[in-house]
Amino acid sequence: MKIYIDGGFFDREEAKISVFDHGLLYGDGIFEGIRLYGGKIYKLQEHISRLFQSARALNLSIPMDEDGMCRAVQETVDRNEKTDAYIRLVVTRGKGNLGIDPSSCPVPSVIIIVDDISMYPRELYEKGIPVITAGTRRLSPDIFDPRVKSLNYLTNIMAKMEARAAGCLEAVLLNRDGYVTECTADNIFIIREGKLITPAPWLGILEGVTRASVLELAGELGISYEESTLTRYDLYIADECFLTGTGAEIIPVVTIDSRPVGNGSPGDLTLSLREAFTKKVYA
Ligand code: PMP
Repeated sequence: MKIYIDGGFFDREEAKISVFDHGLLYGDGIFEGIRLYGGKIYKLQEHISRLFQSARALNLSIPMDEDGMCRAVQETVDRNEKTDAYIRLVVTRGKGNLGIDPSSCPVPSVIIIVDDISMYPRELYEKGIPVITAGTRRLSPDIFDPRVKSLNYLTNIMAKMEARAAGCLEAVLLNRDGYVTECTADNIFIIREGKLITPAPWLGILEGVTRASVLELAGELGISYEESTLTRYDLYIADECFLTGTGAEIIPVVTIDSRPVGNGSPGDLTLSLREAFTKKVYA
């Protein structure tokens, strides 16, 4: 494995960053998760654009432009000689002193790791997964906009722990007003009377690349869709439900807070979207 750090390539054991990096000390940084399918990077430009938008929001100057970042990712992929993989791209504020002030960090650090993918176990794509709604709330956009894909995932981690304690793999986070936002690392969709509905970005979600692909596919397949507000009630009466993410792709949800979704097995529209998505990523 060859890991890119600030222009150099390092073996796994040698790939190290400073304990004074503000990414470690304060979570001051951003990241992307990207997939390589059949040797091709899926939606690289979309991920790089989102990374640069996150950087702008944090006033973090990435020490290269978007094209340079695409080339660095491609070169790291080439050196790792994999055809299917998960790419983790991290930009931290860089090395500074022990105060939080980012002005002590002259140069941000760029890290690119290409590793094997760890998706949910294969059978769960056939069977679907149970989820809970978590007590932990999603950060409101007026405090810190979840559209920034930052290195601060503690609320997501708290919700993940709630899910695990309830015997589930995922949890749905509501926002401060009680509206559905997303899961700990995935966006959420429901289908009700043939219509696809997903929470609107202003409610406080990461605008997922996979979410955008699914909306695009819905358009192509003639499925009507809406970005809207959803409450837990809407989840409970949904005909179908699924989650989307770079790692998870499209995974059906079959129970929410112990209530079966539809007839308790993955829905037809979910399965046809999943099939179309699989074709798209290898196209
Ligand atoms: N929401 C959160 C909080 C995430 O971390 C992610 C990425 N794993 C997603 C949604 C899905 O986004 P994408 O489809 O771009 O991976």
